[in-house]
Amino acid sequence: MRLSQLFTKTLRENPKDEESVNAKLLTRGGFISKVMAGVFEYMPLGLSVLNKINNIIREEINAIGGQEIFMSVFQNHGVWAMTDRWNEASGVMYQFKDNTGKDYGLAFTHEEPITVDASRYITSYKDLPKAVYQICNKFRNEPRAKSGLLRGREFMMKDLYSFHATQEDLDDYYEKVATVYMRILERVDVSAVRTFASGGMFSKYSDEFQVLAEVGEDTIYINEKENRAVNKEVYNDEVLSDLNWNKENLVEKRAIEVGNIFKLGTRFSEKLGLNYTDENGDKKPVIMASYGIGPARLMGTIVELHNDKNGIIWPESVAPFKVHLIVLDGKNKEGDKIYDDLKKSGVEVLYDDREDKSAGEKFADADLIGCPLRIVVSEKTLEKDSVEMKKRNEKDAKLAKISQLLDLLNR
Ligand code: ATP
Ligand code: MG
Repeated sequence: MRLSQLFTKTLRENPKDEESVNAKLLTRGGFISKVMAGVFEYMPLGLSVLNKINNIIREEINAIGGQEIFMSVFQNHGVWAMTDRWNEASGVMYQFKDNTGKDYGLAFTHEEPITVDASRYITSYKDLPKAVYQICNKFRNEPRAKSGLLRGREFMMKDLYSFHATQEDLDDYYEKVATVYMRILERVDVSAVRTFASGGMFSKYSDEFQVLAEVGEDTIYINEKENRAVNKEVYNDEVLSDLNWNKENLVEKRAIEVGNIFKLGTRFSEKLGLNYTDENGDKKPVIMASYGIGPARLMGTIVELHNDKNGIIWPESVAPFKVHLIVLDGKNKEGDKIYDDLKKSGVEVLYDDREDKSAGEKFADADLIGCPLRIVVSEKTLEKDSVEMKKRNEKDAKLAKISQLLDLLNR
């Protein structure tokens, strides 16, 4: 992508109405554009990052048998009334009437409609287990939407739902998902702690995936030896004795909840008629679990963890482009040639070909946008048939021969 053609421009000043690091840097870099508090749009650079995060999630969830679907955000009042959540969740769910007076809602999660879907296809033990997931926006009436992508009123979620005949089968799958969640988080370069939390309907605890960060809204107590933690909301003598943990060995930290998985048991299947017949012909409710991870919150978290005073430092796996190529001294012909060669060999390049920007402005934008590798083509480097290469997370630049550039990058 040529910077001269890019839809967005970087901003020198921090947005006045944002406090969080992720909102400031992502806005200044042109990754996101604000609609209102808690509602952001993704511009080309931002969408590129989000898509990379989503594709890592897809690869990992597909590998454990998840099948991708795409559900409606629009919700039917009747179905939510059957589980009593229309009233229970009226604080968080946007609910409204159409002009005939009929009630509708916007999905803040999708347990009800997915259970209805499953009841159309699952009738026998032979149909189980199954796992389906989607990546789509959720809406929540969040009273404190002030941390950029960390807490939106409209935000993206990957939600996976699994359906089982037996508790053992569910327990097995649940552990697989927990393992895969840790791997997803490792791949996007945030290290997470699996954390005991509230909200497991058919288990004592749910599991959260918490990333240590001061901006986080959660307080957790970490057992560093086991790399596990307990959320403050369930932290008491009972949980300590359940886990056989000693208070003295735990460290209190602030953290961001990026994922949360729940054993739902038969709460939804019983209310919505999702049953199967077992080997003996007996009718039983299907046992369910749900698993959420927030790609948008994760993107904000990555920025909170990976930045310096000049901008973002994207991990390579999610960077909008691998290379930020800068041409100086009007050497655009030479720059264009390198840009084309890199693109042809499959390297993702953001090319600063702008003729009306100074070297200083171009370097500042490269640091702000945060691609992992900066390559500069200038009169000085061309005298040595070279370009200058510098990693975003290192201080020193080095020269590399243009003839060896592709080899170096594809290594
Ligand atoms: P929180 O306690 O932070 O409000 P939650 O426990 O209500 O979150 P879940 O229902 O467990 O959230 O949703 C699953 C995942 O979706 C979360 O772990 C998080 O990554 C993401 N998520 C939830 N709410 C938001 C939000 N308002 N903005 C961005 N991401 C969110
Ligand atoms: Mg949660």
